[in-house]
Amino acid sequence: MGKCSKDKRDLYYRKAKEQGWRARSAFKLLQLDSEFHLFEGVSRVVDLCAAPGSWSQVLSRSLPEGSATIVSVDLQPIAPLPGVITLQADITHPSTLTNVLKLFGGEPADIVCSDGAPDVTGLHDLDEYIQAQLLLSALTLATNLLRPGGKFVAKIFRGRDVDLLYSQLSLLFDKVTCAKPRSSRASSLEAFIVCEGYKPRPGWLPESLKVAEMKLPLDLESTIAGRREGAVAPFIACGDLSDYDADATYQLEKGVQRISLEPVQKPTAPPYKTALEKKRNGTLR
Ligand code: SAM
Repeated sequence: MGKCSKDKRDLYYRKAKEQGWRARSAFKLLQLDSEFHLFEGVSRVVDLCAAPGSWSQVLSRSLPEGSATIVSVDLQPIAPLPGVITLQADITHPSTLTNVLKLFGGEPADIVCSDGAPDVTGLHDLDEYIQAQLLLSALTLATNLLRPGGKFVAKIFRGRDVDLLYSQLSLLFDKVTCAKPRSSRASSLEAFIVCEGYKPRPGWLPESLKVAEMKLPLDLESTIAGRREGAVAPFIACGDLSDYDADATYQLEKGVQRISLEPVQKPTAPPYKTALEKKRNGTLR
């Protein structure tokens, strides 16, 4: 297939439909796993911000059937998936932690992942703030749910404060890497932090992880101060170089007819649902 820059829909979008993934994001988790072997020895997973569910699909297809518990959480309802417990909840709400803990019967998780992204308002500062809140909530859940040695994987946007983020995360994990899967568009600031080897701090109080007044025991404050400068997480690209380029679109070979594919899973509660209904019955103004 030849590269073409005219089509807006990239090849991962099409491949996702062909392979039955609910979203092209599936390839991001698959490529992260091929680099970091995320699922080795994993039996309890939390997938945060999981709708429509392609990461959960990857988890359920990758983990041994019947022996893994996968809990997937999103504000939106997630259409049922085999081997996945879905929870419609807000990850920023304290009750979500209790509910996930109940589903695990009090047992800790091996991995917490989050592909959270808010609905974009277009107001840059607000969008950035909400994204930071989502990440913080995901981390708060992770520090409450993970077993020592567990992993945390989360979507980030490489912005101004990213070095501070790496420094803070390296207090809680043995190894922090920033990874850019090949299926994530190079033009986007999107990347994923892969945190391995969770090491709960002695006396660590997860409730204290609040954005502005992040209250840490004194020894941690000084460690953070010591690491704030010059801490750089390794940045690596993952996914085979021969994989498709997320920023390119590809032309079909000559003679091959393009067939439009239906979405694998239609949105369960799209924000435009009411508008569509009104349009249908002629009451849209
Ligand atoms: N990983 C998903 C997949 O593979 O199908 C795609 C996730 S999508 C990029 C981001 C999701 O974050 C949306 O479904 C959105 O509803 C969810 N989200 C945003 N804010 C949330 C919150 N406060 N609590 C739970 N989910 C949230």
